[in-house]
Amino acid sequence: MASNIYATKCPCCGRSAIEDYYYKTGEQYTICIRCGYNYSKTIKKWTTDCLEYKEEENEGNGVVVLEEKGGNRKKILLDSVVTDEQLEDYKTSFWAENINQEKSYVVLFKDGVFTVFLGYPPENFYLSFEDYREKMFAKYGYPDYDFMVPIEE
Ligand SMILES: [Zn+2]
Repeated sequence: MASNIYATKCPCCGRSAIEDYYYKTGEQYTICIRCGYNYSKTIKKWTTDCLEYKEEENEGNGVVVLEEKGGNRKKILLDSVVTDEQLEDYKTSFWAENINQEKSYVVLFKDGVFTVFLGYPPENFYLSFEDYREKMFAKYGYPDYDFMVPIEE
């Protein structure tokens, strides 16, 4: 597919999100693996004289990342308010026997504040987008265009 995928600043939390932009069609997906924010712009109708997009945006409420001992990862973007019941479920999943707790985490995001509920998010998790971008450029070298920010969890 003709797309550019780079890290971008999350409009919800200001940390690093992932943007997947399809330059031939103008379609775009943005997901934030820090706060759970997601946005999509997709083609609703495309005829010779009309191009209509459909946009959908969900604010971030947190993320759940569960890594199994075998290495399989499951990521859940919490894009609606988390209930106590859901939180209990995530807690149970987190402590399951097949989960590597050291590589898993449950983070909540509310009113602009992150709360680590369980586990250990990676170092990059805590960086603002600007700091993250500097770190990536220092690590991988400066790209030809400054929007080409590498993605790293
Ligand atoms: Zn975010």
